[in-house]
Amino acid sequence: MGIRRLSGGPTDSGRPTDGVAGPGGAVGAGPAGLRDARGRLLRDLRLSVTDRCNFRCPYCMPAEVFGENYRFLPRKDILRFEEILRLARLFVGLGAEKLRITGGEPLVRADLPALVASLAAIPGVRDLALTTNAVLLPDQAERLAEAGLQRVTTSLDSLRPEVFARMSGGRGQPDQVLAGIAAAERAGLTPLKVNCVVQRGVNEDDLLPLARHFRGSGHILRFIEFMDVGTMNGWALDEVVPAREIVDRIDAELPLEPVDPNYAGEVARRYRYRDGSGEIGVIASVTQPFCGGCTRARLSAEGELVTCLFAKGGRDLKTPLRDGLSDETLLKIITGTWSARTDRYSEERSERTGPRKAGERIEMYRIGG
Ligand code: SAM
Ligand code: SF4
Ligand code: SF4
Repeated sequence: MGIRRLSGGPTDSGRPTDGVAGPGGAVGAGPAGLRDARGRLLRDLRLSVTDRCNFRCPYCMPAEVFGENYRFLPRKDILRFEEILRLARLFVGLGAEKLRITGGEPLVRADLPALVASLAAIPGVRDLALTTNAVLLPDQAERLAEAGLQRVTTSLDSLRPEVFARMSGGRGQPDQVLAGIAAAERAGLTPLKVNCVVQRGVNEDDLLPLARHFRGSGHILRFIEFMDVGTMNGWALDEVVPAREIVDRIDAELPLEPVDPNYAGEVARRYRYRDGSGEIGVIASVTQPFCGGCTRARLSAEGELVTCLFAKGGRDLKTPLRDGLSDETLLKIITGTWSARTDRYSEERSERTGPRKAGERIEMYRIGG
């Protein structure tokens, strides 16, 4: 199937169609890039395309809260593809070179390949990836790859059906994720990353089975410490399995050695199997925070610029966009928000643990991981 491009993309010359063009067609920041108040560059942009999901993982969208009567955002409040594209172009002009589509579950948004095709065509995008629970990948992987998607990260918390069911809110089975992974592989969306959120007393016994399963596959399994994102998952520090313990448990059976980061600011700490059968990563947001290298901006489905996963809210970009403000004005808003950024929540966490009230923090399903 041919891929439909959205209007408002770059011209044939590769220059953006409007906006503040700098040397070589770039929009916004100069060659040194845009830095925040702590000197961190804007390098990555995560685009949440929906607040909806076909899962109800208790650590993200607990079923008791997100039940039949939960009111998700009405369609009119969600950014249209043209709007996402316009903002993405501005962010890329400011130095964002890695784009990741996320959610909610991004594959529940209709016609996603059309958005992918348009994002892939933005000059300056070096990496275009998607994070998904993978259940809908068998139907979509090929069209996404054709559209220009480069890589996929899938989530898989357990290979045991009963544990998987508990961690997905009873909405899925591991076989569906494995089928999604196989589809991504066939479509060439590799190397694949497979994310596993580790929760004490829930899936800590799944670490080794998952490691054995993916060792030698070429896919990179990444263990994520259970985080206190949002206000609804009842997080407690004693439910976190520290990255050190995760690595030790795997190393005891499958010897590991550390590997240098691929690039400065890489979120996952890398380890490889000493026998050469692949690598794993651990994302230790709780026990080994990495705020100092955090170059990620997030655009929520409703068009807010969120500068930290743990922020209370974001800067509304949808209203100025829909009010018809120029690219130049939008760039000023984005630049001003990023330049003022001082976020370092994970580094400050130890001083502020304890339950959070609703509204005190943005929920993960609104901004993606
Ligand atoms: N629905 C997609 C998925 O699950 O892959 C994309 C969005 S999801 C919010 C992105 C990632 O965040 C997933 O890998 C998920 O496991 C992770 N995540 C969600 N809540 C989390 C939490 N409380 N702690 C750690 N990781 C979390
Ligand atoms: Fe959905 Fe992903 Fe959140 Fe699970 S982690 S509820 S799959 S958005
Ligand atoms: Fe970045 Fe905020 Fe996470 Fe720190 S806590 S790494 S600033 S998103």
